[in-house]
Amino acid sequence: MSNSSDAMSSSSGAGSDADRGPHAALYARHQAVLPDWLAVYYQRPIEITHGEGRHVWDAEGNRYLDFFGGILTTMTAHALPEVTKAISEQAGRILHTSTLYLDRPMVDLAERVATLSGIPDARVFFTTSGTEANDTALLLATTYRRSNQILAMRNSYHGRSFSAVGITGNRGWSPTSLSPLQTLYVHGGVRTRGPFAGLSDGEYIKACVADLEDVLGQAHGNVAALIAEPIQGVGGFTSPPDGLFAAFREVLDRHGILWITDEVQTGWGRTGDHFWGWQAHDRSGPPDILTFAKGIGNGMSIGGVVARAEVMNCLGANSISTFGGSPITMAAGLANLTHLVEHDLQGNARRVGGLLTERLRAACAGLDTVREVRGRGLMIGIELVEPGTGDPYPEGASAVLEAAREGGLLIGKGGGHNSSVLRIAPPLSLTVAEAEEGAEILEAALKSTRSGRS
Ligand code: PLP
Repeated sequence: MSNSSDAMSSSSGAGSDADRGPHAALYARHQAVLPDWLAVYYQRPIEITHGEGRHVWDAEGNRYLDFFGGILTTMTAHALPEVTKAISEQAGRILHTSTLYLDRPMVDLAERVATLSGIPDARVFFTTSGTEANDTALLLATTYRRSNQILAMRNSYHGRSFSAVGITGNRGWSPTSLSPLQTLYVHGGVRTRGPFAGLSDGEYIKACVADLEDVLGQAHGNVAALIAEPIQGVGGFTSPPDGLFAAFREVLDRHGILWITDEVQTGWGRTGDHFWGWQAHDRSGPPDILTFAKGIGNGMSIGGVVARAEVMNCLGANSISTFGGSPITMAAGLANLTHLVEHDLQGNARRVGGLLTERLRAACAGLDTVREVRGRGLMIGIELVEPGTGDPYPEGASAVLEAAREGGLLIGKGGGHNSSVLRIAPPLSLTVAEAEEGAEILEAALKSTRSGRS
């Protein structure tokens, strides 16, 4: 488990000091002052100095096309002028007031997010991270329902606080089994392996619903909530069939169980067809609680929870987050969201993401190392397997990452403890030309890692 904002994003990093080139001294200092489990991604660490648009530069002057966007935080573009201006203007006025007082950027952003959430009578509570947002959502649900039982998905990831790691559906990401919450795990996150692999959409939904009913039958009385990522992020960009959460919702409603949708990775139009991941299951209606973070601040620390007033108000006073809703982050979030909506970056994610997915499918068609190219919008996963055995192929994923870096492309990886899924999540302003440039580099990296059948 790393303390990175994305559990599997920093899990490699082995290699000798000699391999670390000009970064050896920086790496040695890193090891001296930071916990040793705070690993870095590449064999030779990259020291990023600045970025612009969809590109970043390192201390050696190398330019990279950024297909991971600071782990999905750079939602619009690096160094977006509107965001930079909003931050510097707000910094010139006041940096922070605490939530004891009102500030206009916080109220304005809350209004936008409440409306966009689709949740009726919505209230917004700002935090400083996705973890804290999920923690708050769990606090709300357990308080509202007077139960500490939570349903979560297998292979899920929701952050690194005590309660968030306590509910993760992958024990590899959790150093503790001492959570105060009792968590029951259900299927529905991953389709390429496990007992339901190979089922049609309809059969898969049926099997997952039967599993949910079965798990609920084993619960002790009340269950507070189901928390789920609409598309598992760290888990490897795995999409359930549309309608799964609508089918789950029917069961949850029968039991009065709340539905928390964790939109930390899937929010803000990244999936192209929808503004939120839950909307792919729209017969289900809006969730009871929605959590967000990552992209809204374009790199500034913003997280938050949206819930119906009735649910939100069960916390009451003294639930203050000192830095949540800080004017400087709110000003950045507002400028970023305004740019996203005015430039229809959701539509861009749909168009360019669709082209990129097809282009990558074509590139991977002859490769026996690739099980699947999947995704929605600009959230694309390439699942690697070991040729011959079909087993997860973490060494292959690491090798592709390194080869892509040599070609001038940054990507991510994930997919559970096996970390065999390449993750592609560029800023949503990606152009068609940049998509093609990245696809070419990635194709060469995949082919150099293991020659395909063709
Ligand atoms: N939820 C999901 C789906 C995530 O992917 C993450 C981080 O990767 C989190 C929550 C935790 O967010 P943060 O790292 O901002 O605390």
